[in-house]
Amino acid sequence: MYVDVTDTDADKWGPEAKLTAKNIDGRLFLRMKNGHCAQLQHLEGDWVCGIYSQRPKACHELKRGSPPCLAERELKRLQAHKESKRLLRLNLK
Ligand code: SF4
Repeated sequence: MYVDVTDTDADKWGPEAKLTAKNIDGRLFLRMKNGHCAQLQHLEGDWVCGIYSQRPKACHELKRGSPPCLAERELKRLQAHKESKRLLRLNLK
């Protein structure tokens, strides 16, 4: 769920790194907000990366629309579907 941030990524963000990344057990990850990367922003009806030119290495490597990207999207879609069914079952009890 979390996107890895390397020390090189954090170095290029400078003082902003603390706002962009979070240290969890000694490893850096992109901060999350409302279930997605906090840098994902809704602008003029479209979703865009707020740090696109300085996005972390992991984001550079996962090309938008590539087979791994589409597989990840499908996995997230299935997880969301499964979770919504679970919550629905809980509400029906
Ligand atoms: S591409 Fe941008 S919005 Fe997407 S996960 Fe990476 S940093 Fe976050």
